[in-house]
Amino acid sequence: MHERFCNGRNDVSLMAKVDGEALSHFRLREFENRDGLAMVHAATLEALERVRRDLCAAVGEEVWVIITDAVRTQADLERLAARYGWTDEGGLVARRSKHLAAFGGIAVDIVAVVARTRQRIPQGVLGRVCRRYFDWVKDNYQDGHVHADNRSFAG
Ligand SMILES: [Zn+2]
Repeated sequence: MHERFCNGRNDVSLMAKVDGEALSHFRLREFENRDGLAMVHAATLEALERVRRDLCAAVGEEVWVIITDAVRTQADLERLAARYGWTDEGGLVARRSKHLAAFGGIAVDIVAVVARTRQRIPQGVLGRVCRRYFDWVKDNYQDGHVHADNRSFAG
């Protein structure tokens, strides 16, 4: 019993209903910050499942949507800003980042790859699909990730 659970922190399957179908391709631990705190809004999970479904259909095979960053504490944000700067000072990190826990787990940073080949889905393609299901998408980061959030659901 213990063995089975010793790496079980946030190892929990999440499920979203999409057009009447129960989809479960994400685990809570994918939404962890570096301290293991995890939060994801139901609307964001559903949008991620829809993005994954559309990408799989477009590519014609399994595509993985990989979450590179989700919920952030204020300390997480300050650590990022120390590295990338605040937006009001010309950097990349917003002071009222939608990743903050106060907004309820509405924001994710993602990339997508073809499962078989690990080939990246181009940033612009991923961004375009995200715009179907997220309120706000930014897809011009240098490192190729896409930011997506459902800010109309902000807690
Ligand atoms: Zn982001």
